[in-house]
Amino acid sequence: MKSLYIILFLLNIFGLFMCVLAIGRSKNKLAPFLNLPIISAMFPIAFSMIIVSATSEIVANIGYSVFCASINWVIYNFLMFTSNLTAIRPKRRLWHYLACCLIGTDSLIILLNPLTDTAFTVYPKTFGNAQLYYLPLYGTYFYLHLTISYLICLAILVLLLYKMYRTPVIYWWRYLTILISFLVLVIWDGISTFFQTYVNISCIGYSISAIMITVFTLAVKPYVLIDRMLRYVVEDLGVMIIFFDLDRVPIYANDAAISFFRLQEEDFTASVYGALKEWLGEENVAKGEFAEREQVIEKVHHGRVYHLAFHWHEMVLHGRLIGAFLQISDQSEYHSNLARERFHATHDALTGLYSKEYFLEIVDQRLREDPETEYVIVASDIRDFKLINDVFGREAGDRILIRIADKIMELSTEKALYGRIGSDKFCVLMEKSHYSDQLFIEQPKEVAYVDDHLRYPVICHVGVIDADPSVAAGILIDRCYIAISQIKNDYERRVVRYDDVMRKQMLWENRVTGELDDAIRRKEFVPYLQPQIDKNGKLCGAEVLVRWQHPTEGLIMPGRFIGILEKNGLIAKLDSYIWQQACVLLSKWQDTELSELPLSVNISPRDFYFTDIFQTFVGLTQRYGIDPKKLHLEITETVMMTDVDRRIELLDKLHGAGFLVEMDDFGSGFSSLNLLKDTDVDVLKIDMGFLRESADSERSKQILLFVINLAHQLGLHVICEGVETREQLELLTEAGCEMFQGYYFSKPVDVEMFVEELVPKYLKR
Ligand code: C2E
Ligand code: CA
Ligand code: CA
Repeated sequence: MKSLYIILFLLNIFGLFMCVLAIGRSKNKLAPFLNLPIISAMFPIAFSMIIVSATSEIVANIGYSVFCASINWVIYNFLMFTSNLTAIRPKRRLWHYLACCLIGTDSLIILLNPLTDTAFTVYPKTFGNAQLYYLPLYGTYFYLHLTISYLICLAILVLLLYKMYRTPVIYWWRYLTILISFLVLVIWDGISTFFQTYVNISCIGYSISAIMITVFTLAVKPYVLIDRMLRYVVEDLGVMIIFFDLDRVPIYANDAAISFFRLQEEDFTASVYGALKEWLGEENVAKGEFAEREQVIEKVHHGRVYHLAFHWHEMVLHGRLIGAFLQISDQSEYHSNLARERFHATHDALTGLYSKEYFLEIVDQRLREDPETEYVIVASDIRDFKLINDVFGREAGDRILIRIADKIMELSTEKALYGRIGSDKFCVLMEKSHYSDQLFIEQPKEVAYVDDHLRYPVICHVGVIDADPSVAAGILIDRCYIAISQIKNDYERRVVRYDDVMRKQMLWENRVTGELDDAIRRKEFVPYLQPQIDKNGKLCGAEVLVRWQHPTEGLIMPGRFIGILEKNGLIAKLDSYIWQQACVLLSKWQDTELSELPLSVNISPRDFYFTDIFQTFVGLTQRYGIDPKKLHLEITETVMMTDVDRRIELLDKLHGAGFLVEMDDFGSGFSSLNLLKDTDVDVLKIDMGFLRESADSERSKQILLFVINLAHQLGLHVICEGVETREQLELLTEAGCEMFQGYYFSKPVDVEMFVEELVPKYLKR
């Protein structure tokens, strides 16, 4: 029987030894704290073997004392472990010190027991099968010792209970193992102490709990906890999840799936299948198709458009299918954001028409893909839109833009595309067969004014071009705007077609503008002279007319560049140069037979804005020492139509300085007779051109004669230009015209020819 106990104890020690090995290998951070309680638990077991096998009282006494003393250390070491496990470490040093002193003193007293018998005495007793065992007879001190043991146990219990009180139930398993093993242990120990079995095997309890705690601490995985957590994840995932078993019977759905599909618990399988059929189609579900592929379904559900992504996952464990789950994510927001983003990227926010980049892209694409249809591109531009914005405010501007966009949309044809390609610029690509100028000429009344109560006119200019598929949309549109730029200042014309002539004109304009400075520097502009003849046939003056001796283009007439330079204001540069050339000539002629010959120079209306006319001419005559009366200044009627007071003042000043002013092209423009009343000019220059161009020449002739007459009555001299025939000359002479200029006498010629051929011919008469 004794040997049975010995084997039992040895097995225990072996078990504990295995625990020590396991702890050594474990990476668990609690493992090092387990070593002490486990190793110390070997002592009571080892000394239990001594007690069982003792043959003398003294050996048994020593055995019991070491047994009792070591038990307290075992429990204390468990307390330390519990403290680490629960992470409750009250002022550790002090407590540790106190406890060690207390237990140490107790151990000392107990260990001295074989000499003192303070705690117990040992007596032999024979049991049933005649085996002799030594049993303790406890003295008073022993109960003190026992109290210390129970106090340490109590501390363990308090720590565990406190910790459990503070932690969620799902974590209790950690503490319950220790709690239960300790409770059992204490009860077991109590029973064996008080009801004195012949061998105290309660130490086995220590080693069993030590082993259990080791196993729980190091090996056991918290499956319940993991399970709970996984379930939580599934609920919290933000996607809907439905689990299916091997037979595709739904076994679980998370809350998201239950509430979205309104699944019923009582009729779970049917309601899951009902929902799947609704979304994936009856046939697909019947065929098990929902399980085979991943798909995004768009569907109106409870009045909203949903995009649900169905994703089927099969779960395989050790190579065998154990089930599957359907993951359903609601991508509606993503899709609607995507759609919104796409819309914003391709559409103009204000009008909802296509944005410039997108419009260009789809126009190019359309022209490429539909070569059968003939298209035109129509581009529009609002006259002075910046001004409208500035004066009436951005909101008014925006309202106009929206109204125009709406109107453009109303013109919608089957294949038309619309874009807003600039702040006030719209573009339409439409079938040529549907286009007519009329569509765009008559501006609808909705967009004719800024507002109903703001009757400021909104004028839309429109440029049209045939959409040539081989030319990029961007270039075609640019050409529309080139066309529009040609009619920008034209109040009458609203629609203009771009053609090649226009393109060449644009290129030419750019060239003229770009080359002007160099051309002046290289003296490419030369003054030509056209003689002016009096009624006796004698040379009485000459008009200076510019020619451009272009290095590659040859001789260029002023008609090809004056207008361009007038448009951009550069004319002032050229005119100053030409006036100077005229002065150079006059000063050269001063001591020759031509000393009395005056020269007429042209002053463009734009010069009045860009030069100080008075200062310039006074400066020139002084610099070249010229008598101002030899310089005749040709101005046009238009000059006198704006800023009248200042212009009249200027004329007075010029007169005062001795210059002679001629009213050029009288009869070709507005020709207000009223103007003559206020304008103090010296000579009226009448262009015969209108006689040539007029259908009713007899009537025109009468008007001509009348004007000459009127001029004389106002005390003005008259010079007629454009005289081409003898008849004209005779008619004009009869009418009292004093001077003539025209091809009849000579075309404008260069200075050399003028001096060498015309002067001898006309001067000496
Ligand atoms: P303009 O001032 O009316 O000049 C008269 C134009 O009539 C000249 O054309 C002249 O060659 C042309 N002409 C003269 N006699 C006849 C004729 O019998 N029959 C016809 N059909 N035409 C005749 P040009 O030289 O081509 O000049 C055209 C216009 O260019 C001028 O018209 C003038 O407005 C402008 N221009 C010429 N030179 C200058 C200049 O230096 N400065 C400025 N600002 N303008 C100039
Ligand atoms: Ca002239
Ligand atoms: Ca003229």
